[in-house]
Amino acid sequence: MLPSTYKGPINPNGGFLCLSMHWRPEPSAPDPEIPGQKLSMASYLPTAPDAPCLCGSGQTYRDCCRRQRHWYPICPNPGFQGYSLVALQSATFTSIDGARWRERLLDDSRLHCAEDSPQRGFWLYWGDPAVDDQYGTLCFGDIELKNGQTLYITAMSDVRMQALLDLLTELATAPLPPPRMSYDKVEMIDKVTGKHVKLRLPRTAR
Ligand SMILES: [Zn+2]
Repeated sequence: MLPSTYKGPINPNGGFLCLSMHWRPEPSAPDPEIPGQKLSMASYLPTAPDAPCLCGSGQTYRDCCRRQRHWYPICPNPGFQGYSLVALQSATFTSIDGARWRERLLDDSRLHCAEDSPQRGFWLYWGDPAVDDQYGTLCFGDIELKNGQTLYITAMSDVRMQALLDLLTELATAPLPPPRMSYDKVEMIDKVTGKHVKLRLPRTAR
């Protein structure tokens, strides 16, 4: 899976592992937009020690992620405004008015509807403007409407989740109750042993 275009050596102390998600039309579909498919990609971004750290901390790479024991992946922020450390997470809003939310979500140009059935709606957040590359349109998170009364938001980083929550706040006609948040473990590489380990991103690194 690694790397897509980079041909040099991969060094956990010399750069970042970058995860991205693309949406692209199904080649054989009569309507090129629906149904489409999600394509996840990993690439390696070599980084100079004195370059600004790609995790977005504001420090140099030498003083930040290069010193970490674990090799944390990063992912692009919405609109491709820099990167953030990957921290898989979800937010659940229950007892919402599904019919009204469906209308609002279908109307929003920053979202791409991938499924709209009586039981389920599914939207990909493309941002504004959407960013296309040779693999498709970059996706920055998902919104799922379940059973007409639950909104389930998934995002790969804190910055992405905040962008999605800001979007929902903007679309809501009344203040939303706080969502139930859940954080998943992320697979990363121990730089000392070379082993893959699953860890939660430490709160202090957020
Ligand atoms: Zn960093």
